[in-house]
Amino acid sequence: MDFSLDSEQIQLKEAIIKFSRKKLDNPENGNKGSNMHFSYDGWKNCAEFGILGLAVPKIYGGLELDPLTLMIAAEAFGYGCRDNGLVFAVNNHVFACTIPILKFGSVEQKERYLPKLASGEYIGAHAMTEAGSGSDSFSMQTTAELRGDKYVINGSKAFITNAPVADVFIVFAKTSKDRELGNVSAFIVERSFPGISKGKPFEKMGLQNAPMTEIYFDECEVPVQNLLSKAGDGFLIFNTAVEWERSYIFASHLGAMKRQLEECINYVKNRKQFDRPISSFQAVSNKIADMKMNIELAELMLYKIGWLKKKNKSSFLESTIAKLFISEKYIQASLDAIQLHGAYGYMTEAGIEQGLRDSVASAIYSGTSEIQRDIIARWCGLG
Ligand SMILES: Cc1cc2nc3c(=O)[nH]c(=O)nc-3n(C[C@H](O)[C@H](O)[C@H](O)COP(=O)(O)OP(=O)(O)OC[C@H]3O[C@@H](n4cnc5c(N)ncnc54)[C@H](O)[C@@H]3O)c2cc1C
Repeated sequence: MDFSLDSEQIQLKEAIIKFSRKKLDNPENGNKGSNMHFSYDGWKNCAEFGILGLAVPKIYGGLELDPLTLMIAAEAFGYGCRDNGLVFAVNNHVFACTIPILKFGSVEQKERYLPKLASGEYIGAHAMTEAGSGSDSFSMQTTAELRGDKYVINGSKAFITNAPVADVFIVFAKTSKDRELGNVSAFIVERSFPGISKGKPFEKMGLQNAPMTEIYFDECEVPVQNLLSKAGDGFLIFNTAVEWERSYIFASHLGAMKRQLEECINYVKNRKQFDRPISSFQAVSNKIADMKMNIELAELMLYKIGWLKKKNKSSFLESTIAKLFISEKYIQASLDAIQLHGAYGYMTEAGIEQGLRDSVASAIYSGTSEIQRDIIARWCGLG
C-alpha cells in the first residue's frame, strides 16, 4: 500500500489552498453575512479556478480528476477556504447535482448541463427532502405523472441547499403511487420550467453563504428527455449521490478540522496562564491530541474511499462510516476549539464559534447520525 501523494496531487493541493486563501478568504465575503447571502464573487472565483468542474470530464470543460485526487482537492478546499458556507454551497453543486448527471445522464443531458455546471453559469441543487419526509425520504408525497411527452410534477421540497439561487435541480418524485423504492424517479428540473417556484431563504444557525429554501411544484412541466436514467431509478441515483456526499463533502470538513487544529495549537502555545503556556497543562494538550487522532483516522478512511472509487468499487459502507465519524468529531473539535480559547473563543469576532455553528448540521445532512448507525448495523446483519 502506498500512502504518498504524487507530485501532481501535491501541486494541486497547494494551488487550491493558495487560491482559496487569496481569493476566498475575504472576511466581507465570509461567514457572518445574512442567510439571504450567496457569495457570487466567491462562486465566480471558484469557477475560474476550476473548482466547480473538478469532477467533470475535460470534454465538458472540467478538470477530470480521478476520485482519489478529487478527495485530496475537496480536503484542500475545506482547509484553505474559511467560508464554510461557500464550501458547502460549492460541494452541493458538485457532488449532489453534477455527479448524478455525470454518472446517470444521457449523452444529450451531459452535453446540455455539464459544461454550464462546470463553468458556474448554472448553480446546481439536489431536492429530495420534504416537510413530511426527511430520514424516511422515500415516503415522499411529490409525484411526477407522465402526460404525453412531459412529466408533470406536483408537490414540494424542503431544506434545499442553494435553492434560492439554483438554476438546475435534481428532483426526486414518485412516478407511481406504491410505496416501493422502485417507484421513485429523478429528474433534471430547470428553474425556468413552468410551474416551479421557491420560498423565502430560511434563517439558520450557520453555513450562511449556503442559502436554503423550499421549492414548490404546481403542474410543473418537465420534458421526458429530462428524466435521469430511467423511471424507477431514483433509489439508485439517490444512494449514489449520498455515497459521494458522505465522503467528499466530509473531505472538506476534514480540511476545516485541520485548519481548526492549527489555530488551536497556535493559541495554546501562546496563551499564558499561571506563568506558563496553557499547552503545558495536560488537560489542554489532551484535547489537541484527540483532535489530531481523529483527523488522522478520518484521513485514512477518506483516502481509502478515494482509492476504492478509483478502482470502481462500492464505498457505500465506508462512506457511511466516514460521514458518521467525521461529523461527530468535527462537532466535538469545534466545541473543544471554543473551550481551548476560553472567553475569547466564545466571542463572535474571534471567528472560532463559527466553526461550531457550521459543523452542527453535518450530523443531520446527508442522513442523520442515527440513520448512519442504522445502516452500519444493517450491514452487520442486524435489524
Ligand atoms: C444544512 C442542511 C442542508 C440540507 N440540504 C439539503 C439538500 O440540499 N437537499 C435535500 O434534499 N435535503 C437537505 N437537507 C435535509 C436533510 O437531508 C434532512 O434534514 C435529513 O435527512 C433529516 O431529515 P429531517 O430533518 O426531516 O429529520 P427527521 O427525519 O424528522 O429526524 C428527526 C430526528 O429523528 C431521528 N430519527 C428519524 N428516524 C429515525 C430512525 N428510524 N431511527 C432512529 N432515529 C430516527 C433522526 O435521526 C433525527 O434525530 C439539509 C439539511 C440541513 C440541516
